[in-house]
Amino acid sequence: MWRNKLILACARISTIHCESVQNSAKDKIILALDVPSAEHARRLIELVGDRVGIYKIGLQLFTQCGPAIVREVQASGAKVFLDLKLHDIPNTVAHAVEAAASLGVHMLTIHLSGGREMAEAAQSRSGQTLILGVTVLTSSNDETLRETGIQSPVEEQVLRLAGIAKDLAGVVCSPLEIAPLREKFSRSLRLVTPGVRPTWAAAGDQKRILTPAQALQAGADYLVIGRPITAAPDPAQAAERILEEINAA
Ligand code: C5P
Repeated sequence: MWRNKLILACARISTIHCESVQNSAKDKIILALDVPSAEHARRLIELVGDRVGIYKIGLQLFTQCGPAIVREVQASGAKVFLDLKLHDIPNTVAHAVEAAASLGVHMLTIHLSGGREMAEAAQSRSGQTLILGVTVLTSSNDETLRETGIQSPVEEQVLRLAGIAKDLAGVVCSPLEIAPLREKFSRSLRLVTPGVRPTWAAAGDQKRILTPAQALQAGADYLVIGRPITAAPDPAQAAERILEEINAA
């Protein structure tokens, strides 16, 4: 374990003096570690290093590796966004949030469809961890909502759920919802957006997309980026290119 930590720490130190890395831009990029094993995650962190400020650990990697992978990413010097999208009774969510906060994760997600009481319970046990509320998943559309008894269109439901999140640190939303959310809520509500694609990257299964620069200009605070970096032939160069595009915009 100490050897892995040393390798990851060295990977980050080796990029610390890279002049093209701009702190303000890299701190807005969250790299999604959507990989099946600790080895895959380690390899990506070795390649990308501190070109991104935050690494996102989602359900797949956390279920496979548990808290050990959180500690390993933190040992590299990076912050961790634990994307568990918690949704349960308030008492259970509060205890799960407490457990995640004790790991020192920087950000943690809950589903806002769990309601206000659940969101307040999560916030009450969050310590230093930023709680982000997931509004409507980008994989859902009006028809998906209707299937679950919700007659409102997606945008209306996103704004309604964001109202529940106003005492949380922020919300996760699609790039196309940034503008209406910014209009309705103050700057203190952080907006974290996936569905971001540089013009040179494949859209894949993401349908409602903006480029990184467009998403930040629209008012996003953080960009969750996965495959444009992780599936690139040279992930470090892809991350550099995104930073340059953001800084040039
Ligand atoms: O590879 P890609 O850039 O599409 O990865 C986006 C990341 O953001 C993935 O980890 C995905 O699970 C996550 N995400 C998303 N849409 C949401 C919430 C999270 O794409 N609504």
